[in-house]
Amino acid sequence: MKVAVLGAGGRMGSMVCGAVDADRDLELVAAVDPARAADVVPGLSQATLRYSRDLPDMVAAGATVAVDFTTPEAVRANARYCAAHGMHLVVGTTGMGEAGEAELSRLYPKGGPLGCVVAANFAIGAVLSMRFAEMAAPWFETVEVIELHHDGKVDAPSGTALRTAERIAAASAEWAPDPTTSETVRGARGGVGPGGIHVHSVRLRGLVAHQEVLLGTVGETLTIRHDSIDRSSFMPGVVLALKAVAGLPGLTVGIDLLLGL
Ligand code: NAD
Repeated sequence: MKVAVLGAGGRMGSMVCGAVDADRDLELVAAVDPARAADVVPGLSQATLRYSRDLPDMVAAGATVAVDFTTPEAVRANARYCAAHGMHLVVGTTGMGEAGEAELSRLYPKGGPLGCVVAANFAIGAVLSMRFAEMAAPWFETVEVIELHHDGKVDAPSGTALRTAERIAAASAEWAPDPTTSETVRGARGGVGPGGIHVHSVRLRGLVAHQEVLLGTVGETLTIRHDSIDRSSFMPGVVLALKAVAGLPGLTVGIDLLLGL
């Protein structure tokens, strides 16, 4: 399967290029990143592939599936281009909001010939931790989500934190009211996400991607913590999605299905 990586020069994109290159069933044919255009893509088994500036380069290279790790601003135009040119798509970029996801489902309709997998988190431990939080939700009365990321992350809260809050809210609506009546420092209680669940975002140099779901009830608390200590943690999930996407017409949100969850 011929793969194009969008955002190929970024922190995630460069790892994805390496993971695709290392997989015997995948072939990296295009690495699109306007910021790196014309440089040779480093660290590949083929020393000749150069970054492309423009999307048509991936069509010219014969890519049948694209994977996007760019920015919330770029991903929607990229998705439009991929759908219009008959390419399956895997999206890891976060922060595009509900409107972005709605557009993906219009571009990749059920019953159509093309597949799109979008996941806020490709790390298998993170996917499991969302599932565990969902299972725990009905047994607790209070919950807060804390996500912690590196200081280069531009969107907040993380897509994973939002998705986690959505899933917790769908699993239980029985949450105790927030007792806070005065906030000396504005925002001290974090943002209020889906289902009224408080979400806190930490940005710290040295971190990669981490999340804690804190659940509390009478006399006990449960903390579900996941740490991506290296971006390699996302690669097995990305490769799994790249191999599965052509067989999943329409939009698939999350990789739970691919993991049999
Ligand atoms: P980054 O800033 O290091 O990389 C983004 C790259 O995209 C840059 O090199 C930039 O030049 C390039 N880019 C911008 N516009 C482009 C365009 N139109 N076409 C092609 N390339 C373009 O960011 P990052 O840390 O690699 O993260 C990228 C995205 O992936 C973020 O949204 C982040 O939240 C998300 N992310 C998702 C997961 C997941 O598992 N889903 C994991 C980590 C990060």
